[in-house]
Amino acid sequence: MSIRPVLDPFALVPELDSRHLINGELVAPISGKCFDVFNPATGKVIGKAAEGNARDVDLAVMAAKIAQKDWAERPARERGKLVAECGRVLTAHVEELGRLIALESGKALRTESRVEASVLADMFVFFGGLASELKGETVPFNPNMMTLTTREPVGVVGAIIPWNVPLLLMAIKVAPALVAGNSVVVKSAEDTPFTVLRVCQIMQQVLPKGVLNILSGFGPGCGGPLVEHKDVKKVSFTGSVETGRIVYRAAAEKLIPVTLELGGKSPMIVMADADLDKAINGAVGGMRFTRQGQSCTASSRILVHESLHDAFVTRLKDRVNALKMGDPLDEETDIGTIINRKQRDKICGYIDIGEQQGATKHELSALPANDSLKDRLFVRPVIFTDVKPDHRIAREEIFGPVACIFKFKTFEEALELANDSDFGLAATIWTTDLKTALQATKRLDAGFVQVNQNLVVQPNLSYGGVKLSGLGKEASLESMLEHYTHKKTIILNME
Ligand code: ADP
Repeated sequence: MSIRPVLDPFALVPELDSRHLINGELVAPISGKCFDVFNPATGKVIGKAAEGNARDVDLAVMAAKIAQKDWAERPARERGKLVAECGRVLTAHVEELGRLIALESGKALRTESRVEASVLADMFVFFGGLASELKGETVPFNPNMMTLTTREPVGVVGAIIPWNVPLLLMAIKVAPALVAGNSVVVKSAEDTPFTVLRVCQIMQQVLPKGVLNILSGFGPGCGGPLVEHKDVKKVSFTGSVETGRIVYRAAAEKLIPVTLELGGKSPMIVMADADLDKAINGAVGGMRFTRQGQSCTASSRILVHESLHDAFVTRLKDRVNALKMGDPLDEETDIGTIINRKQRDKICGYIDIGEQQGATKHELSALPANDSLKDRLFVRPVIFTDVKPDHRIAREEIFGPVACIFKFKTFEEALELANDSDFGLAATIWTTDLKTALQATKRLDAGFVQVNQNLVVQPNLSYGGVKLSGLGKEASLESMLEHYTHKKTIILNME
């Protein structure tokens, strides 16, 4: 039966309410327990999500383990074709998924949610085409021995995802894992369970039962047992550094490999010779103001040459002031809400700390005029100037619409400031001088360095950080080979 897009997200949620997806079926949690999911823009409950526990995890992992055997036996290109077909089927649901993610995450539909929904489908099509790259090698070990390597799937993969870009971050785990012959159990984030569940439901039209399963629930109660399950042979996690450490420790007990995509405090360097228009655009996009700064790659430390500093600040303020905050589902809205109250309080706490430590606060844009939205989780974007490198707002990940602007004199000073961070996810430099650009790409400590642009995750560009930003890469061919297969060495002695 083919699933038709449902464009009204309020009508779609009841279909997905209180359910996991295990072995191809939407099922109730074994405990019968569920939790409320809110529309962050209004504070109203939109539905209930199944509260997964160790028993649900066991059921899902069992289904995945059984399904993986047949799945791995299929020719690689057949798996690839099915994964690419998932992408094509999902393309028909872009509008539906965009609206649903806007409803549950608070991200504006036009500027963020619809964009994410369309990138999702592309990731499945991209990885589906890579199946025949699962190649081995022959090794000139001994003329009388045929020596070769093959790429073998690892088995059942546990994928734990966050709420900020759940569709894309699920896709860059699920698509390569499946193509490589693994089966997957996903644990969705508490605040955004419905859209990813819907995606998995849509994919069931194409995939064999049990190959892709999804559970909702809380971190320790559902994510923990997934990582610890004896039959989960690999974990791919995106989230906070603190939880990343917990996941890494649990994986270490079982000695299984992990991929960790954690936080960031990404620098953006604007040199004196930069094209100011481009740099301003880059700061608005790079800081993800339209996503309320809720991005691990957000350019939250903007380093501007002293000769441009004042003009840069004035123009950036004008641009951010022109962004409209409002109902995420309204096409006119540029900026939606913060995901939940805890996150809002954390962001507001950092804004207070910034002021207390002596930085100058510029509060921008305006809260929505609509009374029913006014008291909700909207936080006005903030730019801080006069920030010192040791201020907490300059060092800790805020995950909100708060950018720190620094002034520098020399290139060396800029590089030193940029690298003075526990994180190393992304960095950009804005300059028209080739030598400066090349030197910066070499010397910036980050997994993803861009000159005069600020793109997000792209198919086939390895994505992942250094230092506290994590371990391993995602989104590329190399990520599929290195993180979702193991290399087997085979010798045939013909003497
Ligand atoms: P945030 O603070 O933004 O919610 P987390 O890193 O806590 O970030 O969450 C990212 C994902 O990790 C979510 O799906 C969450 O449920 C899950 N998670 C949280 N705690 C644990 C844990 N102890 N074990 C496994 N997963 C967890």
